[in-house]
Formats: sequence, C-alpha cells, structure tokens
Amino acid sequence: MNQVINFTCKPEEVKDLFLIENLIREKLKIKKNQKISFRWHRRSIDARQKQIKINASFEVAIESALAPRFINYEFPILDKLAPQLHIIGAGPAGLFAALQAITRGYKPIIYERGKDIRSRRRDLAKLTRDHILNPDSNYCFGEGGAGTYSDGKLYTRSKKRGDVQKVLEWMVQFGATEDILIDAHPHIGTNKLPKLIEAIRNKIISCGGEIYFEHKLTNLFTENGKIHEIEINGKKRIVINRLILATGHSARDIFDLLFKKQIKILAKPFALGVRVEHTQDYIDRLQYHGRLSDEFLPPAAYSMVTQVDNRGVYSFCMCPGGIIAPCATGSQEVVTNGWSPSKRNNIYANSGIVVGIEPSDFEQKNNPFVCLEFQKNVEKACWEAAGKTQSVPAQGLQDFVNGNISTQFPRSSYQPGIVSVNLKEILPDLIYNHLRKAFIDFNKKMPGFITNDAVVHAPESRTSSPILIPRNALNFQHVEISNLYPIAEGAGYAGGIVSAAIDGINCIEKIVKY
Ligand SMILES: Cc1cc2nc3c(=O)[nH]c(=O)nc-3n(C[C@H](O)[C@H](O)[C@H](O)COP(=O)(O)OP(=O)(O)OC[C@H]3O[C@@H](n4cnc5c(N)ncnc54)[C@H](O)[C@@H]3O)c2cc1C
Repeated sequence: MNQVINFTCKPEEVKDLFLIENLIREKLKIKKNQKISFRWHRRSIDARQKQIKINASFEVAIESALAPRFINYEFPILDKLAPQLHIIGAGPAGLFAALQAITRGYKPIIYERGKDIRSRRRDLAKLTRDHILNPDSNYCFGEGGAGTYSDGKLYTRSKKRGDVQKVLEWMVQFGATEDILIDAHPHIGTNKLPKLIEAIRNKIISCGGEIYFEHKLTNLFTENGKIHEIEINGKKRIVINRLILATGHSARDIFDLLFKKQIKILAKPFALGVRVEHTQDYIDRLQYHGRLSDEFLPPAAYSMVTQVDNRGVYSFCMCPGGIIAPCATGSQEVVTNGWSPSKRNNIYANSGIVVGIEPSDFEQKNNPFVCLEFQKNVEKACWEAAGKTQSVPAQGLQDFVNGNISTQFPRSSYQPGIVSVNLKEILPDLIYNHLRKAFIDFNKKMPGFITNDAVVHAPESRTSSPILIPRNALNFQHVEISNLYPIAEGAGYAGGIVSAAIDGINCIEKIVKY
C-alpha cells in the first residue's frame, strides 16, 4: 500500500526532486538506508498570500514499488446477440454511455449529426477564416460534441452525482496524461482532446458497438407512451427498443421536434452574458501578486461570483492562455466560448461572465421556449450589430462599464474579427445592468480587473440548456415516454464534460437496474 503525505512548499521547490525526497523522508521519519519511491498524488496552488504556496500531496512506498494508480479497464467484446441501445449524439455523454453500455453487455449504436474529428476540423477552419457555418459540423456539433475543441477543463462540482474518478481514469486510459488525476483543476487542452476522442471511438467499434457520423435524428414516432421508430436524415427509418437522447444544449431542432410530438419539455434557468479577454500576463500579475507565470507556476486563472440585486453573476469557463472561439450553430447568430491548448501558452486569458436567467423573468414563464427565445434574440441582435457575419460586437471593459463606445482595441484572439459596438445598446437591460454592477464588484475583489486593455465580446450565451427534458430521477425515463432517456447537458442534467460523461454512465446503470 502506498502511504500519502501532505505538505506545502514554494512553487520553485516542487521540481527539485532531491529536496522533495528529503522532505518526505523527514516527515515520514524514513531511515537513510531505506529505499523509497514516490510520485505526485494531488496538487493545488494557493495564491491567496504574497508568498504563493503549493499544496503538495505525494504517494510514497518504502522498500517496495509504488502500487499502480489504477488498473486499465478491459472492455469486453460484445456478444453478437447483445441487446441494442440507440444513442443520439457522440458528445461526452453519448460516448461514455456507450462505453458503460459495453461494460454491461449492451451494444451501443450511436447516431451523430456531425462529422468525424478530422473532417470536422476543416469545417472549423472555414468558419473561422471564411465565416462559413455548417449547421451540422461546428464547435458544438460533431464527434466528441462540444467538448472536443474545448479547453478540456475537467473540474466538476457534481461529485455527488457519480464516479468522477472513473471518468478521469478512463480518460487517462484513452490518452490523457496522469496529471488529470493529480491536479485540483485538471484540464486536457484542445490539441490533445481529438486523439482521446478517436481512441474512445475505436474502442467502442472494436468491442462491437457502432457509430454513424452525419446521421441526424430528424423524427421519431410514438405509440402507447413509447418511441417505436426513429428517422435519420429525413429518410432512413430505424426500429428501436430504447433511445438515449444526448444531443447537447444547442440542438434546437430536437427541442422543436419534441414539442411538435407533444413530448413534454419545460423552460429551464440558464445564464447569459459576455466573454471578457485580458492578456494572460495581466491576469498573472493580478492573481500572483505582481509575479508572472513561469516554469513553476501555470498561467493564472480566476473565478468570480457576486449577487447583483438578488441575481447571481459569475465567471464561467475561464480559459487561461486561451482563444475565444466562434460557437454558433445556426444562421443569423453569433456565439462565443473559449478554449486553450494543453500548455495554455496563448497570450490571452478569457472568461465568460454571465447573469443567471429564470423563466419567471418573463411574462410567458410557462412557455417552454421562453428562455430559448431570449437566448436566440440576443445572439441575433449581436449578429446584426457586428455586420451579419461571424464577427462579434466588442467593447473595451472600461468603456462597457462607462457606457462609451470604444475607439481603440488591443488585439483580440477571436479570429473572425471584432466590431466596435456600444453593447449597452444591444444587450437587454437585464443583462447589461447586472454585468455592469458585477464588473464594478469584481474590480473591488480583484483591483485592476476593469481596464480598457480587456475586451468584452458578446454574447456568451450557450452556458447550459435553456430547456429541460424532464425525466424520472429514479430510472432516468422521460416522464411521459418510458423508453426515452434524456441525458446530460441538452436535457438539463449536466454542465460540463465530466458531469455529462457521468450522466451517460449513470443512465446505463439505471437501464440495467430498472
Ligand atoms: C468551445 C467550448 C469550450 C468548452 N470548454 C469546456 C471545458 O473546458 N470544460 C467543460 O467541462 N466543458 C466545456 N465546454 C462544455 C462542454 O463541452 C459540454 O458541457 C459537454 O460537451 C456536454 O456534453 P453532452 O454530451 O451533454 O453534449 P454535447 O457535447 O453538446 O454533444 C451533443 C452531441 O449531439 C449531437 N447532436 C445534436 N443533435 C443531434 C441530432 N439531431 N442527431 C444526431 N446527433 C445530434 C451533436 O452534434 C453533438 O455532437 C465547452 C464547450 C465549448 C463549445
């Protein structure tokens, strides 16, 4: 058994293995003639004081080899007669549901509207360079879902919902570095995620599962409270036994389809705002008390939350060393989100800053589409204001707070381009006023946060699903359609890669149990 030892040290000390070994020996009272092996167990940064500390935790074995961190899982080859499970969507939820299905002897068959990773990349280049949007292949749709070309942050607060460790271990098994099992705020990076997703795809297929790209669910047919057939790409009909719906928060056509088929959906709270970009050096200095990130300290992140007039305003999906990406999925809209490479070595730091929105904010609070319509209207207003391309409206942060149009911008990482717009004039008052007050509060907590060197890009609107597809907590079955399993972010039950993957795994366990 490995022993675990915890201590704090300076950032410069963590790479000095001689010093670390001596510290371990001293703390565990290990004799000089005893051999030890050790490795990182957990690691986090405490930058609250001027002297930044690393909370270090090491696994140690005395006079023996370290026990492995975990044992690779052997996914079984499926029996030819294995019962089939149809899954719509190859995002984290769909893929992890498929892996878990294999462990339980079910044959997963995934239909994904978007393209495989390689073909998808070409569509992203066209979107960024030429403003040409493919509504089925973009930053949200395609193999790996919205998570593929993301930052790959794997931190989740939803630990109670399921086995976070299992998700992370499977990710390591499929190619992520073991650092994600160590760091308090693990991340993978856009450059590494595609290979990992491809490895998951290959495993699913080699075990006997099936994945079909450019296969969009376009219709479904119900009888006696069950779906008996689905339609793919407007023509192919498939008889199904159970349907797992893992289509993500941007599949608006799926919400329309469910509504048309009189399958219950509900309006759901979500959040909307803007994406703010500082330079990374600037954020490093603010967070690290004047110091820059270096070989010992990673590019600094921040996390902010405040209440403005009883409404939450918070930072969302902060990407140190990242890029702002064009994440629209339909015509007449612009949407931003952020990603970063594994080294987080871009010169910018961006973060969504978003305002909580409730169905009760609107007159038609019982209309399931009330929050979605609000989201659509903001995305369209921003598209119109920035010239009806994939450029986005933008403003210096100081100017945003003062309500002045910006005359000069520092460079932005958003490659399709930014256009100077007074965002006060296009964002709904509810959003603008809450953001403005929140920025003033953030500036008190992190003096210097408001500066015209930071650029506000609008909108950050796809934070979570504005619609809930209600299911029974006990068995994950839709409240009205017993063989429909709405899961993860699109159904309103997850937010982020890990929690979506957990929901996919849990769904299979529910199917097995009930
Ligand atoms: C740029 C960006 C950066 C992000 N960064 C992070 C991050 O760092 N950390 C984090 O935790 N989260 C991040 N996210 C969010 C994260 O990607 C999502 O929370 C997660 O992917 C949700 O998983 P999901 O499986 O529920 O849905 P999705 O990943 O959205 O997958 C749904 C899939 O269903 C497919 N689909 C939709 N409709 C149909 C249909 N009709 N027929 C067939 N297929 C369909 C879509 O093409 C898609 O592939 C980021 C998102 C973006 C866009």
